[in-house]
Amino acid sequence: MFQQKLSTFLRPQVYRVAKWLDECVGQFEAGFNRPLRRCLLCGSGEAGDQALCTGCFDDLPRVRSPCSICGGNVGSARLLHPDLTSAVSPALICGQCIRVPPVYDKARCGLEYEFPADELIRSIKYRAALHWIPPLTCSVSSELDILLDGCQSEQVRLIPVPLHRSKACHRGFNQAAAIARALAVPKRLRVEHRLLLRARATRPQAALAPESRRENMREAFIVDAQRLRELRSIKALTTLVLIDDVMTTGATADECARALKAVEPSLTVLVFALARKSQC
Ligand SMILES: [Zn+2]
Ligand SMILES: [Zn+2]
Repeated sequence: MFQQKLSTFLRPQVYRVAKWLDECVGQFEAGFNRPLRRCLLCGSGEAGDQALCTGCFDDLPRVRSPCSICGGNVGSARLLHPDLTSAVSPALICGQCIRVPPVYDKARCGLEYEFPADELIRSIKYRAALHWIPPLTCSVSSELDILLDGCQSEQVRLIPVPLHRSKACHRGFNQAAAIARALAVPKRLRVEHRLLLRARATRPQAALAPESRRENMREAFIVDAQRLRELRSIKALTTLVLIDDVMTTGATADECARALKAVEPSLTVLVFALARKSQC
């Protein structure tokens, strides 16, 4: 009888102790399993949402004086185009854009193609290090906002520069498509993957002299004209943004813009790349 009463009295106490021990073990395990928020570049410090520490984020090589048209670094040789200069916002235009204006309307690049951006982009492209895409797109997101200034998001579509089928099969992914997706999600923009296709395989642009690149890209892209006209009439599409990892001479972007504007000449075609490689 006494034993029965004692057992009834002790049962809740034992339960409470067991529960407390269980919570302690849970907290101990959670401490061990907590994801490390270390900087992906230097490995030290507390990384923020962009997966880089403040120091590494601030040290990324940004395009300091971008040309208002092509987004390339105008540098110290600044040219102010007389027709485009206003008292409020003087337009900084590079000599190349004054001599031969591009087919696309405007381009912007987040970073200079210099260390560490060049290494990171190469590792994305050739070693499938896709985990580098979110920190890079996060670091250049504000540049896309500048490019899209005044555009309604529902009237905009991002278009990854397409790879030829053979290259996409070999690589297993299109880095431009992955970059476009990462840029689009936080801004609630839409990506059109099938609007622009590569009609033929081209030689790698990096292996060619700047003057040969335009010839290499000539008529390399085809547009799904029916889909584009539908977007234009039904969704009131006004702006397409070509997305790429690196932009050098702009020959690829120009050829894409030419194909798109051949179907819908009044469309605004913008270009956004993670990094800008200076022409040499
Ligand atoms: Zn760091
Ligand atoms: Zn320019």
